[in-house]
Amino acid sequence: MEGKMYSNGNWVEATNGDRTDVINPATGAIVGSIPAGSRQDVKLSIDAADSAFKSWSKLTAMERSIPLYKAYEMLSERSDEIARIMTLEQGKPLTESRGEVLGAAEFLRWYSEEAKRTYGETIPAAVSNKRAMVIRQPVGVVAAITPWNFPASMITRKVAPALAAGCTVVIKPANYTPLTAVALFEVFEQAGFPPGVVNLVTGKGSEIGTEFLENSKVKKITFTGSTEVGKHLLKGAADQVKRVSMELGGHAPFLVFDDADIDLAVDACILSKFRNTGQTCISANRVYVQDTIIDTFAKKLADRVRTLKIGNGMEDGIEIGPLIDQDALAKVQHQISDAISKGAEIITGGKEWKESSLSGSYYEPTVINHVNETMEISFEETFGPVAPLIVFNTEDEVLQKANNVNYGLAAYAFTNDLSRTYRVAEALEYGIVGMNDPLPSIPQAPFGGWKESGLGREGGHYGMDQYLEMKYISMGLNS
Ligand code: NAP
Repeated sequence: MEGKMYSNGNWVEATNGDRTDVINPATGAIVGSIPAGSRQDVKLSIDAADSAFKSWSKLTAMERSIPLYKAYEMLSERSDEIARIMTLEQGKPLTESRGEVLGAAEFLRWYSEEAKRTYGETIPAAVSNKRAMVIRQPVGVVAAITPWNFPASMITRKVAPALAAGCTVVIKPANYTPLTAVALFEVFEQAGFPPGVVNLVTGKGSEIGTEFLENSKVKKITFTGSTEVGKHLLKGAADQVKRVSMELGGHAPFLVFDDADIDLAVDACILSKFRNTGQTCISANRVYVQDTIIDTFAKKLADRVRTLKIGNGMEDGIEIGPLIDQDALAKVQHQISDAISKGAEIITGGKEWKESSLSGSYYEPTVINHVNETMEISFEETFGPVAPLIVFNTEDEVLQKANNVNYGLAAYAFTNDLSRTYRVAEALEYGIVGMNDPLPSIPQAPFGGWKESGLGREGGHYGMDQYLEMKYISMGLNS
């Protein structure tokens, strides 16, 4: 697969002609290549987006919703084909890729509808000869940067509300997973977005990011990725006071109280922890289990984890794919050896998984016990298939521990006590709380973090707000 960039309605190579290989993390094989775009290429796309903004922002919301809805239909129709591309470059099992593509399409559908509801407000003025109103208008050219772990949905979660609001977009996908982005842009092209409205640049994040920060035609930066890069972009955006949205890292606590349905909590833990091989920003990263049920929970969880099938996500029945690269594997290995050296015990897994026909980076799905706050795994994002169990005694104690990290993206709790459900949901210092629910993310609801997990929200009508400026208009009347 030889991908190209998409600029001003044309498929283009980098001006310097350079290309970068795309690797299958399951096998190590080259699956394609993409242009290694430079700042000059990014500038051309920004110019195109700036010029297209003048007409796109003037269309009615009804007119903008038409290609968005078409893109939803076309992406849904191509879900099987695009899922295969995703698994080839990202490694997640094919069923998960298919689910992600369909989920990505749902953002297009939802915002094609929400485009029509960008309401303003009238405000009763204090004096009779004035009228006060608020309208909302698109911020302008949006620069979007996305990660590799959800190569389709992280794009549509930004592009759909931005276009619905009347903005134009230049998007830079992660270098690991650009081919899924290319496939999405084939859909955008066929759906009928005018030239320049939505543009794709590929290449090195730091170089493209610098042009996004320094080019004054870019009015807004929306980023999903690590907290480290997010902080760098926040600092850079300050120079021009650019609008920013930041969807950053997480370290989700997963609380299991002794009044919970243990089987439900075990199933939920498998989904939350091992989906996408644990490479999910809202993955359970600390599993707190009440002391009276720790042995039962640990046994049931480990029994389930032992059945998870690991291998190449293109094959039937695979549930755990490769990690994205060797660095990701090394990070998991480091966290495990650090935990073991400080007293943790492996219940199942705990080492690299190797198969002679596959040269990717695999780690066995793992459960470890006796984890405590001194271990790196209890405060550094793992991004791998490891469930660390931490025992607790009281509700107050676990809430204090659960909140004691710099992150605040997602948290989960399992209990059948109604009063505790409210107390715990309200006390957790996280942007998303799943109560007896391991998969809280839906297009209609706000997704985003507290603390160092981010700024702003994606999804729902909150997601539209990120791409709209507010304007207050005061009108003096003749009496
Ligand atoms: P990353 O290293 O921060 O990369 C994310 C994107 O930023 C990539 O497109 C990357 O491009 C680009 N980038 C790298 N350095 C840059 C720079 N100096 N300036 C501008 N852009 C730059 O993160 P990742 O490893 O891809 O993704 C994993 C992280 O994303 C985890 O921390 C995860 O929790 C977080 N995440 C958060 C959410 C959320 O909604 N909160 C969702 C998914 C993932 P290159 O590919 O060219 O390096």
